[in-house]
Amino acid sequence: MPEWPDLHVVRGRLEKALVGREIVLVRVGDPLVLRSTRPVETALAHRRFTRVRHRGKFLIFDLDQGAIVVNPMLAGVFELADAEEKLTRTTALSLVLDDSNDLRYRDDKRMGKVYVLDEGERMDAIHGFAELGPEAGDLPWDEREFAERARATRRELRNLLMDQGFVAGIGNAYADEILWEAKLHPKRRVTTLSDEEMSRFYRALVDVIARGVRDVEAGMPPELGTKIRDHMRVRGHKGKLCPRCGTPIVKSRHGLDDMYLCPRCQPPPKGQIR
Ligand SMILES: [Zn+2]
Repeated sequence: MPEWPDLHVVRGRLEKALVGREIVLVRVGDPLVLRSTRPVETALAHRRFTRVRHRGKFLIFDLDQGAIVVNPMLAGVFELADAEEKLTRTTALSLVLDDSNDLRYRDDKRMGKVYVLDEGERMDAIHGFAELGPEAGDLPWDEREFAERARATRRELRNLLMDQGFVAGIGNAYADEILWEAKLHPKRRVTTLSDEEMSRFYRALVDVIARGVRDVEAGMPPELGTKIRDHMRVRGHKGKLCPRCGTPIVKSRHGLDDMYLCPRCQPPPKGQIR
């Protein structure tokens, strides 16, 4: 699933490629992912890109009239291709531009959504959009305010990180990385953290997302379309040695999700085995 650093880097690349360009051809490969009150071909023909933004895990393309808002969910990715290049089976939407570049949205799992908004249609009406908290990579809170807000929720750390209403843009991968960095077990409750642990939690969130942006920027190819995960320290590293203490990394279940952690650096809360 693309998370804050992924979307942040993709946003920057797309903005460079798209702003000022006009859509000259619209090709729909999978209508299932599209949400629009009128045919997408008509709604997007001859529209011009004015800005590319992201909000949490949503990418937003502002047009001279209306906008396109995309929630890539598990597997949605953007690619920049030459318009002549053959479309793949899972290309859901292709927008050919006036410079013969092609903005393609591919979704192997068909779970993402592409909302085409007309002038006057509100983004806040999109499922999950209005409730988004502040951006994970641009937190408006200092350590003290973060601690207050976190403690007020009384939640488990991993659930809190992944709650898009608390902070927007963190998913499974960066939640694991942040908690490993902070040396905190995912199932600890915020209310049990000492001041020192809370400080580590805050610093880890800020640092891991900032580092993620740098690493994704360095690893992302010009045509986009891949998920950069090489820089991860624990996510996907089951059985490999913890880079800090050398203990094998463990993979376990967390609700419906997989989580990875170091059983030595991240001791479980009292009364729990791991
Ligand atoms: Zn360790």
